[in-house]
Formats: sequence, structure tokens, C-alpha cells
Amino acid sequence: MMKAVFKLMILRFLFPLTLFVVSILAKAELPIVIAHRGASGYIPEHTLEAKAMAHAMRADFLEQDIVLSKDNIPVVLHDAHIDTVTDVATKFPDRKREDGRYYALDFSLAELKQLRVTERFNAKTGKPVYPKRFPGGIGRFEIVTLEEELEFIQALNQSTGRDVGIYPEIKKPGWHREQGHDISPIVLSILEKFGYRTKEDACFLQCFEIAEVKRLREELGWKGRLVMLLSGGGKGKDGTDFPYLRTEEGLLGISAIVDGIGPPIGSIITGKSPEDRQITDLVKHAHAANLVVHPYTRRSDELPATVRSADDLMDLLFREAEADGLFTDFPDVTVKWVEKE
Ligand code: CA
Repeated sequence: MMKAVFKLMILRFLFPLTLFVVSILAKAELPIVIAHRGASGYIPEHTLEAKAMAHAMRADFLEQDIVLSKDNIPVVLHDAHIDTVTDVATKFPDRKREDGRYYALDFSLAELKQLRVTERFNAKTGKPVYPKRFPGGIGRFEIVTLEEELEFIQALNQSTGRDVGIYPEIKKPGWHREQGHDISPIVLSILEKFGYRTKEDACFLQCFEIAEVKRLREELGWKGRLVMLLSGGGKGKDGTDFPYLRTEEGLLGISAIVDGIGPPIGSIITGKSPEDRQITDLVKHAHAANLVVHPYTRRSDELPATVRSADDLMDLLFREAEADGLFTDFPDVTVKWVEKE
């Protein structure tokens, strides 16, 4: 009798529980898909439409690049200048700086809202940066504030029953300060307002400037997850020592402050062709320092010379190098790879 009851217990409770735990563990190891500026391979970057598409494509996180307007409103734009993704040169021809460029920081939010956002183009030639993507000048897209975007994502999470995270980047904090604007405290107050506060919340905050990353943690009290973005080149203009940060010692050093790193794919897979490519020790060293690694950026229309195909790239990054996630302009392609694992 007891034996039968025990057997039943195993079948009814322990076995499903084991399966559940195993599936959780297996899922925990799957890389996360970060929609780079939204589903920017399909719809102009950083529009709500691009974010909705990425959300529907089942990306795990949606990225926001953040700069300030003249009246200190954080807006979601990749660059400090706005002449490569909007019609600013036509609408406000006399508002360029001496360098010939138009900056978000020189326009109030009310003015920025008058602009139309379009597919990224070369401001000098007018030619599209990615010719096969969404055609320029089509659609009625507008510049979005950080608050509008977070509200939108949380609304989508409610209507779909999903919990898609955010991945905000504070752009050029040092430059903003030189211009008399302090971007980080403003961004943090909005993250706080929308409930992104701790490492349990679905948010990674990222920045390229080491001094600001330290300031976010030590001075401004950011308690959520934090990612140090790394360039593949030499020292940054602000003094961030990228070559040192990419070393075993440098990674161990910043692990006291951040939870992960965002390196370019080229810092993980080096070489000139599929034949001579090599996997560097960057991910290994980062993992040894307890850091997650989310490289950027996978573009179907701009694959590195070291890979044969999009799948080849993901096989290398996720299986061989063991990266923990990927920024991608084409979230559906990356989600498809992850879901077949
Ligand atoms: Ca970014």
C-alpha cells in the first residue's frame, strides 16, 4: 500500500516538479533577444511602430537610446543630432550649428514633435543607409519621449500578457553636461516612476562612459541592472579605457559595479573571413567575473565578414562563445534561432 502511494506521489508530484525545474534551468540558459532600436530592420528605428513590431516578434527586451530635448525631456533617439532620421533640415533650415548639423538639444519637445521620423539616411547624400529596408519618406512617424515609450511597452505587456523588458541607454552624458544638461538623474527619475528600480525588474541600463556608469551606481543610487558598453577600439573621447576594460583584469574591476557588458560582435569573433575566424576570451573572462555578455549588433543586411550566414553567426555567438544575449535589428530571426534550441 505504502509503496503504491509513494509511487503515485512520484508520478503525480515529483516527476512533474523535476521536469518543471529542468525546463526552468534550460530556459535560464537561453540567450535573450534585445530588439536593437526596435524591429529596426523593418520599420524606422525608435518609432513606437518599430517597438510594437519587436514586441509582437517576441523579443525579450526593447532598446531605447536616450538624449535630451532643449527643455530637458528625454527622447528616444540614437544620436545627439537628428538630421539623419528626420526632416529637420527642411522644417527648421536655419537651426543648424556651425558644424552643419541639427541637434535634439537645440529644439524644444514641441518643436521635435513637429518633425517626421524616417528611415535612416546619409544627411549629405540623402541616400538610405540600408537600401533594402523601409523606404524613406513613407509613413507618419514621430519622435517619441521616453515616458511615452515606457507607457506604450507596459500597455503592450498588459494587452498581450507578456513581460517584455526595456534596455535604455544614456547617450553621451559627458557631452550633455558640457552643454549644460544633466541627463542621467532625469532618466533615472522616469525609470523609477515606471517601476524599474531593482535587479528583479525587467530592465538593463547601459552606457558607454565609465565615469557615468560609476556615477549611476555610486552617486545617483541606481540599484537596477547595469551594463557597461564597450567599443572595439581605443580610448573613448571621454577617457573610457576600452582596451583595458576588455582585459581579464579590467572586467574583474568593473564587475564590482556592473552586471554585464555590451561589446561589439567583432570583439568576440575576430578575423577577416569564415576560414580564419577565432573566438576571443572576452566572454570567458566576463563570465569568470560574473558578468553577462550582450553583444551588438546582428543585422541580416550587414553580417560580419567572419560568418557565412545569420544562423552561422548565432551558432558561433551562442554555442561556441556562449554569449548571453544579442542586440539585433531583426528580432524575429534571432527569436527563431533561440526557439529551436
Ligand atoms: Ca544603443
